[in-house]
Amino acid sequence: MGRTPHLEGDRDSMRTDSTKYTSFTGWIDPPDDVRPALDGDLTCGIAVIGGGMGGMAAALRLAERDQDVVLLEAEFCGYGSASRNGGQIAGAPGGDLRMLSLQSPKKMPVMAKLAEHAGRYVEDLIKTHDIDCDYVANGLVWGAVSPLMMLRVRTQAAILRAFGGGGTVGSREELGLPAGFVGGMRESIGGMLNPGKLARGVRRALLGSSAKVFERTRVSDVRRTGGIVEITTPHGTVRADKVLLATSVYGGEWDITPKNLATPLYVIEIESEPIAPERLAALDWTSRSGIITQHQLMTHYRLTERNTIVCGVRTAQRGRTYPLPDRVPDPGVVRDMGKDLANRFPSLSDVAIERAWGGWIGISPDWLSVAGQVGDNVFYAMACNGHGLCQVPYVTHQLADYIVDGEMPEDLAGIWSDASKYSPSMSLLLQPFVLRAVWGLDRFNDFFNGSRTRARRALRRGRRGGS
Ligand SMILES: Cc1cc2nc3c(=O)[nH]c(=O)nc-3n(C[C@H](O)[C@H](O)[C@H](O)COP(=O)(O)OP(=O)(O)OC[C@H]3O[C@@H](n4cnc5c(N)ncnc54)[C@H](O)[C@@H]3O)c2cc1C
Repeated sequence: MGRTPHLEGDRDSMRTDSTKYTSFTGWIDPPDDVRPALDGDLTCGIAVIGGGMGGMAAALRLAERDQDVVLLEAEFCGYGSASRNGGQIAGAPGGDLRMLSLQSPKKMPVMAKLAEHAGRYVEDLIKTHDIDCDYVANGLVWGAVSPLMMLRVRTQAAILRAFGGGGTVGSREELGLPAGFVGGMRESIGGMLNPGKLARGVRRALLGSSAKVFERTRVSDVRRTGGIVEITTPHGTVRADKVLLATSVYGGEWDITPKNLATPLYVIEIESEPIAPERLAALDWTSRSGIITQHQLMTHYRLTERNTIVCGVRTAQRGRTYPLPDRVPDPGVVRDMGKDLANRFPSLSDVAIERAWGGWIGISPDWLSVAGQVGDNVFYAMACNGHGLCQVPYVTHQLADYIVDGEMPEDLAGIWSDASKYSPSMSLLLQPFVLRAVWGLDRFNDFFNGSRTRARRALRRGRRGGS
């Protein structure tokens, strides 16, 4: 448990000297029933490559539709960002809506609807498969740490409304946010869950279905040849009539993947040690809603069922080469996030960061969900940008229906692309020095926006009230 509170100013960072770094996730342990690798050649109707939330949802749907489906996963289903993310079920598009509305005015109304449908889809998935993943539908909040940031929240909320989305704008008291926040906007649907448990539950449902699942099976190449698709793995070749690439950011290693489909960024999560319930209660975080700040590069904060605080993103590191490396977070980034937590929650500055992990996310060419087709038998979907936990499986599940019926569902049609390659602009924009400059700008604003003083003042007020 977190020890006796220090007086404010005692520490300017949560402790990171005993932080455990993991190359998988802090949410769950790896499964102990990993399925055997493909050993030999195989033919099938549809092959799904990648067993993240996207691949699993697609394969599950295809099995429900009585298709002859095979799923190939390099490690085990749920190994990628599926199990590593912040567990925030978002019901609205992510990113800077001002910029996105200028850049993609036609696509934004589709995205506002798609995001809500995606949130509902995951809620249904949890119910249908009776998945115990600690889901609480308390709505994700776009939080403001300063009056200026609150202005940005109001602008973003107005844009979202104009595109047909919804949310409730309110003060910190109205939204039940911790002392130190000014207010925010609560999305109309969604909430918090343990993403590791969700991925484990979807994997269980998939393994119980008629889909043939091969884990520890890394695909090294995908080629269209003579009306079929040939998929190469270390110990066998799969010949499929159709293929769905659900490898997210990892698909960039193959020639068949449209060029510049995903720009890889490595982002991390840190989790505190368990904190005494009375200390958490003193934060006044009554709604327990997850919060994403409105910085240029958001930071998110959430409480967990194990009385810890998880904090994520704040910094993104660019991936350069394929295959993307299996890595652990950079200790310098973890220290920076520990500092941020101590500023945001000064009464907890003595708490230790127990663990840190990270994962690769793919930024799509227009920062929004995208799906498409290469020739007549290779399909792909990319839906991430920090909000892919719902959008990815929703889109791939629609893609599965499209593959079976030949009729395109409305939301899928709204994000469909016929491009065989994409503009490199996102990839050129997200350079390491740009990401560093964005981080610097956010910290510069934090320095002057008074958020640290506000959080400390709230702590002093709380102490006076409590004494
Ligand atoms: C730290 C972090 C925090 C995040 N927080 C949130 C959040 O709070 N809310 C939200 O909505 N989104 C969040 N996201 C994004 C979200 O997790 C992703 O958008 C989503 O999980 C992507 O799903 P996916 O199925 O496309 O990819 P993945 O889950 O990454 O699945 C891809 C799979 O492909 C497999 N694979 C790779 N190469 C091969 C190969 N050659 N052969 C076979 N298989 C292969 C991988 O092993 C992996 O299992 C976060 C992501 C990260 C990393």
